[in-house]
Amino acid sequence: MEQYPLIPELLPPLFDWYRTHRRPLPWRENKDPYRIWLSEIMLQQTRIEAVIPYYHRFLAEAPTVAHLAELDDERLMKLWEGLGYYSRARNLKRAARAVVDAHGGVLPADFDALRKLPGIGDYTAGAIASIAFGLPEPAVDGNVLRVLMRLTGREDDIAAPATKRAVTQWLRAIYPTGEVAGALTEGLMELGEQVCIPAGTPKCDLCPWQVSCIAHREGRQTQLPYKSPKKEKRAEVYTVLLLVSRGKVALRKRPDEGLLAGLWEFPNLPGVHAEQEIQELLQDMGGVPLSLEPNIAAKHIFTHVIWQMQGISATFAEPFGEFSWFSPEGLTDEVAIPTAFRAYRKEFLKSSNGKET
Ligand code: SF4
Repeated sequence: MEQYPLIPELLPPLFDWYRTHRRPLPWRENKDPYRIWLSEIMLQQTRIEAVIPYYHRFLAEAPTVAHLAELDDERLMKLWEGLGYYSRARNLKRAARAVVDAHGGVLPADFDALRKLPGIGDYTAGAIASIAFGLPEPAVDGNVLRVLMRLTGREDDIAAPATKRAVTQWLRAIYPTGEVAGALTEGLMELGEQVCIPAGTPKCDLCPWQVSCIAHREGRQTQLPYKSPKKEKRAEVYTVLLLVSRGKVALRKRPDEGLLAGLWEFPNLPGVHAEQEIQELLQDMGGVPLSLEPNIAAKHIFTHVIWQMQGISATFAEPFGEFSWFSPEGLTDEVAIPTAFRAYRKEFLKSSNGKET
């Protein structure tokens, strides 16, 4: 692949712009590597505004790596409830344990050692290394790729791993050391989020790189970057059961492996099933429904799959089967229900006490 141009002369205008325009985000208050790590993990696939309250809540309970390493699993999931991609939380705790065991509870100031920790990929390791430790390590994500493809006018496919590798190598060769390393990482992120935006026309009039930007000069800002089309998501259909007895609803834990591993869920089964079929299935499990009726349909989109769900609700005189039964308060305070089931959680809370939380 042809080399990318070197751009050290473009750095001072970016630093000046960043100093003036950086948003005062809570994880920018200091250079604590733990806080930077936590924010980077939370920000994966999640908007800044959505992350901020979770970030404060999480830090209040786990202010250090050592606290996180000791955090109860159920509490960890509760703190993450609603953020999605729960493996992020599990990996955070596994990594915290590894940091306590191997590094005395302090994140290592070394890219390769960071990269070895569970849940820390090239991007997060680069962000922690440059922002917290001032190491010359770039953090390349979709934002950074978009800005740089427009800046250089290149049409490389930003969905291709080879493009990311080439850009990372290029940046690594020119990355500064010390405080400016973090300023470059955060400046690129901020420019991509505030000015060289993904949707619509970038705000080139506000950009510190306007005079050097090839896409701007050639009027190709909205044509770049090039991204090859994604594969279609697979659709899966489920029947979700809202089983209620004495004001409590039945939940069960998902298997320890796979999607939403180990999290609580409403009982469900693949495919669409007639009420009669569900009635027989429940009777086989020892539950004779007093009532049984269709409930709402819902949809949830994961990274590679779409769940299409059809609900059925049923009431029983007594709890039965190998389920755990939760009151509305228990559902709200004790267990974390993945966002995929949010519509059914809401339905239960609404029908039991008129509240939607
Ligand atoms: Fe993006 Fe416009 Fe700046 Fe170029 S000039 S980097 S297209 S915002």
